[in-house]
Amino acid sequence: MQISFDNSYAALPDAFYTRLDPTPVKAPRMLAFNDELAELLGIEAGDPAQLAAVFGGNDVPAQAAPLAQLYAGHQFGSFNPQLGDGRAILLGEVTGRDGIRRDIQLKGSGPTPYSRMGDGRAWLGPVLREYVVSEAMHALGVPTTRALAAVATGESIYRETGALPGAVLTRVARSHLRVGTFQVFAHRGEVENLRTLTGYAIARHYPDATGPLDLLRAVCAAQAELIAQWMSLGFIHGVMNTDNCAISGETIDYGPCAFMDAYHAARVFSSIDRQGRYAYGNQPGIAVWNMAQLATSLLQQMDDKDAAVEEATEIVHAMPALIEAAWLRRFAAKIGLPAAQDGDQGLIEDLLALMQKDGADFTNTFRALPTDAARDQFTDRDAFDAWATRWRDRLDRAPDAAAMNAVNPAVIPRNHRIEQMIEAAVAGDMAPFERLMAALATPYAETDPDLARPPTEDEIVPATFCGT
Ligand code: AMP
Ligand code: MG
Repeated sequence: MQISFDNSYAALPDAFYTRLDPTPVKAPRMLAFNDELAELLGIEAGDPAQLAAVFGGNDVPAQAAPLAQLYAGHQFGSFNPQLGDGRAILLGEVTGRDGIRRDIQLKGSGPTPYSRMGDGRAWLGPVLREYVVSEAMHALGVPTTRALAAVATGESIYRETGALPGAVLTRVARSHLRVGTFQVFAHRGEVENLRTLTGYAIARHYPDATGPLDLLRAVCAAQAELIAQWMSLGFIHGVMNTDNCAISGETIDYGPCAFMDAYHAARVFSSIDRQGRYAYGNQPGIAVWNMAQLATSLLQQMDDKDAAVEEATEIVHAMPALIEAAWLRRFAAKIGLPAAQDGDQGLIEDLLALMQKDGADFTNTFRALPTDAARDQFTDRDAFDAWATRWRDRLDRAPDAAAMNAVNPAVIPRNHRIEQMIEAAVAGDMAPFERLMAALATPYAETDPDLARPPTEDEIVPATFCGT
């Protein structure tokens, strides 16, 4: 297969990675292939057996330069000085038809020197979850890594619940640079490597940035927009560790993530997030915390430390206001206001408070707002009606349903649908996967109303698992 790799990361110093090939798998079989993304990347969709051999890791393309990347990270607030790609291998980079350079990475492709206690593998469930949710996020308009392929390995892997079918995901990203990539060199005091990394990140993502602090400013701005988008869609990432925070501003690492059904600001899905560190409503604060870690790392290379610390502090302290402004802009649009003015924040927060009190469905409430059906989402209808009166006064005209429908999705990848899809896929039935992918390709259109339905009492899936 012809893939026009052009690998810039592999040209960085050896300290940045370990070169190694993916570990071949027993019986690679194509489960899903993203033709549209392949086309963007200039990859010809050949025959399925050949695709499965390449994206299962058995057949490494000629121009690839496979490697596992080194990084560190704060996991749930505690620093781990060395993480790295423990189950992923970067095949290389391609420049797409849109002129953008992207990484092509296999995830679940076997052990690496950074695997620690792990087996380097992934099972089908998390692979298909990431495939569906990342592609849905893309269709929703959120910056995100994407899914090019999912390959069944024909091997069993072992997790707490027993033997599970193995799979490999091919992930495509603007890069896999994380806050943790900076942290590893800063922690080790490897200033030259830190400088090289900074220059590389600027050239690749923010070519207008004039230096480390300007890079920090750009990443803060990108992360602020990203978090506001997550909030506006009811998305909960679940593991906002600094190693899962991308310098590009893309959503990365779909582990125990989920979209909320019933709205609650303290909602958590991740089974391992017992303190609620990464709860829905904590995401803005955590993003700022992550940027403070990036700032600390970047500062290690500055000559005039005092002045740099002062400037970096200013940049990080400015971030909450950036998130708030982006949040207000997006939520104002969700309630049909093209531009926010004084008092709108309170109006939006009052609606959210009512939704929280009544457990209203996040997605369906906003989608129904321009119609009379919105009040059906509430048990306290008088309270909602009182809010709606204030809202209509503020609008001063009929709500612009078309504009609102363009920002309030009709369908999101609901957690119970994801679980049903995984269960079917394990049993060999990919039809629910295909159905989800079809509806989520146009999430602002009402193509499959049954997928818009919140879970019934029996269908609720309250927690998600990393599956590592
Ligand atoms: P994640 O929670 O996916 O962000 O992973 C955190 C760290 O654990 C990363 O360094 C991963 O590469 C590593 N890791 C996760 N799962 C595995 C696995 N099955 N085998 C080896 N390393 C893993
Ligand atoms: Mg990760």
